[in-house]
Amino acid sequence: MSKIRFNALKEVLNRKPLEIKAAGKRSELFGANVFNEYAMRQYLTKDAYRSVQDAIFKGSKIDRKIADQVAASMKDWAISKGATHYTHWFQPLTGATAEKHDAFFETIEGGRSVEKFDGGQLVQQEPDASSFPNGGIRNTFEARGYTAWDPTSAAFVYGTTLCIPTVFVAYTGEALDNKAPLLRALQAIDHAATAVAKYFDKNVAKVNATLGWEQEYFLIDSALAASRPDIMLTGRTLLGHSPAKGQQLDDHYFGSIPDRVMSFMRDLEQECMLLGIPVKTRHNEVAPNQFELAPIFEEANLAVDHNSLLMDVMEKVSKRHNYKVLFHEKPFAGINGSGKHNNWSLSTDTGVNLLSPGKTPMKNLQFLTFFVNTIKAVCDNEELIRASIASASNDHRLGANEAPPAIISVFIGSQLSSVLDELENVTKGKLSPEEKTDLKLNIVGKIPEILLDNTDRNRTSPFAFTGNKFELRAVGSWSNCAGPMTVLNTLVAKQLKEFKKEVDVLIEKKNLKKDEAVFNILREYIKASKRIRFEGDGYGEAWQKEAKKRGLSNNKTTPKALKAQVSKEAISLFEEMDVMSKVEVEARHEIELDEYTLRIQIESRTLGDIARNHVIPTAIRYQNTLIENVKGLKEIFGNNFEKQATEQLDLIEKISNHIAEINSKVNKMIDERKKANKLNGQKAADAYCTKIKPYFSDIRYHCDKLEMMIDDELWPLIKYREMLFSK
Ligand code: ADP
Ligand code: MG
Repeated sequence: MSKIRFNALKEVLNRKPLEIKAAGKRSELFGANVFNEYAMRQYLTKDAYRSVQDAIFKGSKIDRKIADQVAASMKDWAISKGATHYTHWFQPLTGATAEKHDAFFETIEGGRSVEKFDGGQLVQQEPDASSFPNGGIRNTFEARGYTAWDPTSAAFVYGTTLCIPTVFVAYTGEALDNKAPLLRALQAIDHAATAVAKYFDKNVAKVNATLGWEQEYFLIDSALAASRPDIMLTGRTLLGHSPAKGQQLDDHYFGSIPDRVMSFMRDLEQECMLLGIPVKTRHNEVAPNQFELAPIFEEANLAVDHNSLLMDVMEKVSKRHNYKVLFHEKPFAGINGSGKHNNWSLSTDTGVNLLSPGKTPMKNLQFLTFFVNTIKAVCDNEELIRASIASASNDHRLGANEAPPAIISVFIGSQLSSVLDELENVTKGKLSPEEKTDLKLNIVGKIPEILLDNTDRNRTSPFAFTGNKFELRAVGSWSNCAGPMTVLNTLVAKQLKEFKKEVDVLIEKKNLKKDEAVFNILREYIKASKRIRFEGDGYGEAWQKEAKKRGLSNNKTTPKALKAQVSKEAISLFEEMDVMSKVEVEARHEIELDEYTLRIQIESRTLGDIARNHVIPTAIRYQNTLIENVKGLKEIFGNNFEKQATEQLDLIEKISNHIAEINSKVNKMIDERKKANKLNGQKAADAYCTKIKPYFSDIRYHCDKLEMMIDDELWPLIKYREMLFSK
């Protein structure tokens, strides 16, 4: 084993789990560092409290005087929690979170100072953010961006900083972040779903989209990760031969959690509790060193913020435990990748989950309405959903023989399928009394019983109904949930709006009863959305063929998938629902294409460097040893040496061939890069995808062959088995 590897592994062997002292009961810790309702009641005047609550629940504006009061109280509260600074916390389009810290501290006359924080500083700030991606928006409009307080996501203290969740927009109003369009989409779904929910209950005044994400990740010891330039620069391994033992024994899934990992998790969970992130479950995942963490679901905006915050906290906490956390969707070839299931539903202010069947046939009709409309929305816009989860790293999962495929389909289980099949045959127009009774008692009325013992689970479906929610499983572990949540909620909002229109026409013009009208429209929707429903094996070859017949898209790469974002239909949809303007949609598209290009460019450079600086020199050193050996054998055996040196000669030749292949492929890849770098936008992304990326597996193949040939003592890169099986 090489010295670098030996030293790194020795470090790992000597690691001890950090002792994590319980800081109190979980329930008492929960939200202690959040300026939540409880803290607001303590710190705000009655007027200010009501004003903030109205802003949260009714979307009303907070006037400047009240904002001053809120700011002053927030500052006092934050200082009591040890904060010295504040920051507007936002989610730029890079996918990470951004913050710029300012001290509360301000100087006053006489060389003294005070702690100050006023309404202006709370409500709006102008970060010097010229280097965040903006897709040309700010160049076009020569406008600067500013951040603005989002009162619906509570401020929190992290470390010694008061963090205020904000949106980030250009002065001309265009969104430059992930949160602003999400908030608009959530407003759209609120309006559309409330209007439809009123068919069933007049008292409904607001509908919230809910989100429960499940975050998968890998933990790798930091000493091992540090010795791999590919992990450090790209978040994944670009080469490495698969180990003799991978995940074939399935002995990691739900297995006992190693002590050091457990201590990391406890530490992390404690931090999450303080920050009000309601983490609930933790377990090992399928791959070695892969884990999952999931919270209790929350209102979608809050859940998105909490996921972004969590990823940030995970990186910080993992460092304390000498781990590097990998969010990449596919850090190791041949080993399961990571995703982030997005469990999604709609819930009313009257406490009803609209995707959960109720106790009466009417409640079940409500369930069916939202259920079928969601399926229809996904069916009509499957390509847009695929686009919303596209990224360079997620391409390794979607459509690359791994869960789930790049084809979007909906799984609902055999029993709900048969309910929809029966509803499809409902008579058009007015229903006879017998038919109505039959529908209510025998079809719609039976739904709760069906769901109770519905244990159907299909792990290969990208969008599955799981009892009282849909689970979008195709989201990447590295991505911000805001993207897919914005798209899904916009689509369903648009669909519900159409539905309402169509039902109203039947009631007003055709004199149908409300439930008759609903049945009539649902019947049409069920027929129209049949092609998106798929109950079989989503990974299978057969599905690819079948999906093609059904006219479903199968966009395997990001540059291809993203095109759907800027289609005429997509732009008018986003505009109609007031979620994004054409400029915003196009800017986002440009940013995502650029990000794709940059990520592949970085991977390409890193791979070239490792191949040239690590692999080839090591191969030459080993080859030299072999050559020395052969020369020695020749001295001893004279002309007969070849018989004694068959293995060595063979190796020498093979090594030469691999080196030559690597060299020529790296050269060709660099040539392609030079050409691609003259392009931009779609053309650059296409070139990186089709001309440059294919070299990765070729180059890797030869490097991995060399790894198996070369003396273990010389090999400089931590091997798969060492990374994956040291705790
Ligand atoms: P798994 O998919 O791992 O088998 P579950 O199906 O129980 O687990 O999903 C658990 C996740 O679903 C949790 O993150 C939970 O918060 C979320 N969830 C449950 N109900 C809802 C809901 N109504 N809306 C959104 N998310 C929900
Ligand atoms: Mg799940």
